[in-house]
Amino acid sequence: MAQFEAVIGLEIHAELQTASKMFCACPVVDTTKAAPNSAVCPVCSGMPGVLPVVNRCAVEYALRVALALHCTVAPTSIFARKNYFYPDLPKGYQISQFEQPLAHNGMLDIQTSTGEKRIRIRRMHLEEDAGKLTHRNQNNSPYTLIDLNRAGVPLLEIVTEPDLRSAEEVRAFAVMLRGILRYLEVNSGDMDKGLIRIEPNISLRLSGSDELGTRAEIKNLNSFRSLERAVAYEIERQRALLSSGQLISQETMGWDESRQVTVPQRSKEAAHDYRYFPEPDLPPLVIEPQWISKIQSSLPELPKEKADRFQTEYGLNHYDSLLLVDDRSLADYFENVLAYPRVDPKSAVNWITGELFSLMNQSGIDILHIAVSPLQLAQLLQLVDMGEINQTSAKAVLAEMFATGGNPAEILAAQGLRQISDSSHVSELVQTALADNLEAVESYLVGKETVLNFLFGQVMRAAKGKANPEVVRRELDRQLSELKESDAA
Ligand code: ADP
Ligand code: MG
Ligand code: ZN
Repeated sequence: MAQFEAVIGLEIHAELQTASKMFCACPVVDTTKAAPNSAVCPVCSGMPGVLPVVNRCAVEYALRVALALHCTVAPTSIFARKNYFYPDLPKGYQISQFEQPLAHNGMLDIQTSTGEKRIRIRRMHLEEDAGKLTHRNQNNSPYTLIDLNRAGVPLLEIVTEPDLRSAEEVRAFAVMLRGILRYLEVNSGDMDKGLIRIEPNISLRLSGSDELGTRAEIKNLNSFRSLERAVAYEIERQRALLSSGQLISQETMGWDESRQVTVPQRSKEAAHDYRYFPEPDLPPLVIEPQWISKIQSSLPELPKEKADRFQTEYGLNHYDSLLLVDDRSLADYFENVLAYPRVDPKSAVNWITGELFSLMNQSGIDILHIAVSPLQLAQLLQLVDMGEINQTSAKAVLAEMFATGGNPAEILAAQGLRQISDSSHVSELVQTALADNLEAVESYLVGKETVLNFLFGQVMRAAKGKANPEVVRRELDRQLSELKESDAA
């Protein structure tokens, strides 16, 4: 049977979370929270006689992304009208860019189970978002609510070359891109709020061929999970059709979340359907080279570079470094902890991704808002490192620090959790435990080695868990071998 290869290109729409909209002074609000139509003016509601003005900050945000993805920025780009009629777009056209986009020819390296791969970025342009429609039905009379808060919000469209070959690669690309948008502080990455929408274009071709097959485009996916599933489903759907000798029709599809299938929405529109023409109300967008170099030099370290650095600089493994760089504030927190002396990177990761994460999960508080400062966590790690406190007690202290914002040393003193490492004290505890458990000691002496754990437990119990386990083991071994020798003698 013929072997097919999937060919996938992505169109990504990312809102740019500037203070105001793309062409007017209305604020960009959280559309899931703000009262409907509370951030609307004559410009973004498409009243006649108004003029758009380009938001400089939106252009700057878009340039950050363009430079982070190694695109060439066009010295001059042109806004264009994309005409279509739909009630979420009161003007009857969307201001977008068509023939001369803001930037082109970039790339993004992704990492999958089969290694690293470079995905080319074809182009990137600025446009405005549309409003939001809510379809309702009351007593069999359908109606639609319109909220224009989102109308005119700056939108960045990023288009890749058809370089992706599997659902796994598509997901890796999307995860990576979202991470970059968050690091650049242009988009919070809240996909469930629709702030990033992804449209995969999918076709199949005979393996080895370099022609493109007929594609289907899946609209507006807003989670990694539905993106991955929709792509996987669509590949199999097309494979089945082609394998049985049928043709793919070029269509726009939707993803039915409840049935987990792609469904046809409409036949694919062509560019001429939109009657694009240059926006007469806006001059060409000219980007000064100095502005580009200024933005270039202010770009932050991006997730991948940071993860690589964490591995070489701190000796972290791949997994831990990815976990930390997922969120820029988390990575910063980690490095702020390491800024203090005597903090081992590996144990810092373990405490952060272990105990601290679980406290954060339980409380729903994120790293930016927790009561434990990097200094305080460093102090706790130092106390563990110096043997002042054992792991179990340290966990209790951290929980208290998390709840109260207190300092580890004070909590330690107040709760009497300081570890007993003092050898004469430990020696006393061991002696008492042995004296209280003569039978166990006997059976140890006749060769039942497993009793050792029991005796260890008895000492720890007498110490209320606060004894330094290493010191206890050493002392227990010492006293028992003394007994053994006197026994043998
Ligand atoms: P539009 O969908 O607006 O017509 P394009 O034709 O520029 O835009 O393509 C959009 C996306 O679809 C790009 O990411 C491109 O790489 C991808 N693409 C184009 N043709 C195919 C194809 N035959 N198979 C898979 N992806 C494709
Ligand atoms: Mg398209
Ligand atoms: Zn407005």
